[in-house]
Amino acid sequence: MIRLPRAALSPVTVAKLGDYTEEIRQQATEQARKAKAKDLWANRRQVRPALATALAQMAPGHERCMYCGDGQGTDIDHFEPKSRTPLRTFDWLNHLLACSYCNSNQKRNQFPTSLEGTHLLVDPTAEDPLDHLRLVLPLGTYRPLTDRGRACIEVFGLNTRAVLVKGRRDAYATARHSIELWRIAMDKGQRTKATEIVRVAWNRPLVDVLVAMFHQSGHPSADALFVGEAEVLTLLRDPELRTAFLPPG
Ligand SMILES: [Zn+2]
Repeated sequence: MIRLPRAALSPVTVAKLGDYTEEIRQQATEQARKAKAKDLWANRRQVRPALATALAQMAPGHERCMYCGDGQGTDIDHFEPKSRTPLRTFDWLNHLLACSYCNSNQKRNQFPTSLEGTHLLVDPTAEDPLDHLRLVLPLGTYRPLTDRGRACIEVFGLNTRAVLVKGRRDAYATARHSIELWRIAMDKGQRTKATEIVRVAWNRPLVDVLVAMFHQSGHPSADALFVGEAEVLTLLRDPELRTAFLPPG
């Protein structure tokens, strides 16, 4: 998971979402609100293309899943399940793009909370997953930094889905290769090629690996995190390379 922006919707779409929410709110009981939310979401499909388009623009790479970063984001997921909070069924801030595996096999209707009742899962459009999760780059597995990071690992199977772990290891090798090739291209004055290397690097699946590499290169323990990879660490700290790869700010 990486931090993602939240796009703005058109006023027409915002108005439609408000109308549906009001319809749900007018139901007499919580059970009726849940039934209405389910029915409206299934049958009022005209609002969904606008949501899907906005979510696709926000998603990493080529419309990758906002949870695992690997599969194609095919489903509009309700971060807080509509069965739990029907009034958030048409809440734009509650919509994320997920692959069908994360949505149907992993998360389903799970929404773990702490003993105090606050939610544990991390919404990547509202906060930075790096505050809760650290990727162990050579292993391709995540280490929890907080209880919330632990909940994300468990609910999304971030360490138990072998394709994700193996994929992250390969993504690490590919990303190291990309930054080396970028340096070579720049040293040869091949700026167009260097720009293309950056673009492709950010459009690959599992771009959380690239984000983790840049983030960890600034960590006080970076030398230990990149043991045996001193050249990679030097490149990741190169101001010129960082300017080329990272957005300003
Ligand atoms: Zn996924």
